Amino acid sequence: MKKYNHFINGQDVAPTNGNWIDSVDPYRGEAWAQIPQGNAADADLAVMAAHRAMTEGPWAQMNPSERARLMIRLADLIEKNAEHLAEIEVRDNGKLLTEMRGQLNYQPNWWRYFAGLADKIEGSVMPIDKPQHFTYTRQEPVGVVVAITAWNSPLLFVAWKCAAAIAAGCTVVIKPSEFASVSTLEFVQLTREAGFPDGVFNVVTGYGAEIGSALIDHPQVAKITFTGSDATGALIYAQAAKSMKRVSLELGGKSPNIVFDDCNLDAAASGVISGIFAATGQTCIAGSRLLVQNSIKAQFTEKLVQLGLTARKGDPMKPDTNIGPVTTQPQYEKILDYMRIAKQEGARCVLGGGPATDANLPGGQFVEPTIFTDVTPEMRIAKEEVFGPVLSIIGFEDEADAIRIANDTIYGLAAGIWTKDMGRSFRMSAAIKAGTIWVNTYRAISYMMPFGGMKHSGIGRESGIVAIQEYLETKSVWISYDDNVPSNPFVMR
Ligand code: NAD
Repeated sequence: MKKYNHFINGQDVAPTNGNWIDSVDPYRGEAWAQIPQGNAADADLAVMAAHRAMTEGPWAQMNPSERARLMIRLADLIEKNAEHLAEIEVRDNGKLLTEMRGQLNYQPNWWRYFAGLADKIEGSVMPIDKPQHFTYTRQEPVGVVVAITAWNSPLLFVAWKCAAAIAAGCTVVIKPSEFASVSTLEFVQLTREAGFPDGVFNVVTGYGAEIGSALIDHPQVAKITFTGSDATGALIYAQAAKSMKRVSLELGGKSPNIVFDDCNLDAAASGVISGIFAATGQTCIAGSRLLVQNSIKAQFTEKLVQLGLTARKGDPMKPDTNIGPVTTQPQYEKILDYMRIAKQEGARCVLGGGPATDANLPGGQFVEPTIFTDVTPEMRIAKEEVFGPVLSIIGFEDEADAIRIANDTIYGLAAGIWTKDMGRSFRMSAAIKAGTIWVNTYRAISYMMPFGGMKHSGIGRESGIVAIQEYLETKSVWISYDDNVPSNPFVMR
């Protein structure tokens, strides 16, 4: 079993307390690697390395085109190592190899896209109203960035956060989830190979409440960028406020997939199933609330059940597997709890509804892909994020009804709309409060397209040109070329 170390200042560094945590393969239910259990002392080492790299040394002096060149080299190395990194992610989080391979092969795009932005970060010259002044703005890197990530797509989140941060000229300390840290520890070795100076990238691992919390409190950290649950996001937001750190949060969702009776029903059924059963439902953008027009509710539900029955559970490494294990034991228990709650609240289970016990499944934690119908908006199953393959079906009458139900949530990450009516697609896209709207598609992402949440789903945006602003501060510079001394020094100029 391989034992990993932190990566600090370009070196492999053992945890100061001498403790490691087992990383468990959720398919086999066995430990397969060990990661450091970092503490506040490790957090300090990593942040100080990132701070030195930010303020002294070659990174601080490097021109942006040279930064971009290193990022492009890193993109090439990710491409070369994509299969290896994808396999590690599957060992660590149990998601399908087909999904993780797709993600890893796509990730170099973020590094190349933001490399292209690195030397186009421009300030402005202002047409100022005060005479004899030259005024301009500078866009400066915010400083040391701490990136805290979730277990479901570890390296995708690294790409979303760090490609923009590094292009902006920041340095980073990454704290991946204790459930899936190995791919990030392997990835960071590529940054050394790409030629990044020591201290620009650092990775420390361990529990959120221990090393994660110490990173947030560290005085040399300027910005926290976080992906995870809204409960942890709220804690981090409050904690970061004490030292006035900048914060971006990518949090959970309870996204509605809204199916109108005029849509292509086959395409909608495929989109709804992929929205909730892909990645075993362990995705922030899961379309976990299906809002379906009452006129087609029975027919569409039957279509979904038939499609759901074709899902093959099994080894996530195999290409014909559709549903892998649930990544963590607590998550497994939570999903089963929600299935029980839904039944108690009166929802009718038409598919699955419990643990999967097929003979071909080993020790890992599997649940049945599950569909509940006759769900009402007041039920917990319609309000709370399950983060598993559990779909709640709610009927609606017309557009106004659909908008009311869709927006009746604390979340606002994404929504799907299925219709052939163009006017309706524009009206609905404007009316739904969510960061991403998909019309006649679902779960599409791109490095070119901003992504992020409204309401409890988060703060800030990743991907697209706007994302780089999350890692920049605007500085305003006033230069006077008036040689006359102001007549009254006691008033504002
Ligand atoms: P989590 O909130 O439990 O943990 C996320 C990270 O935060 C981990 O690295 C963890 O160690 C760390 N952490 C926990 N407590 C901390 C603390 N007190 N201080 C600092 N760090 C702390 O989330 P999870 O279970 O890993 O991930 C699932 C959640 O992530 C779901 O809610 C899902 O919707 C969300 N998610 C959001 C997006 C998005 O882009 N919006 C993407 C994927 C997942």
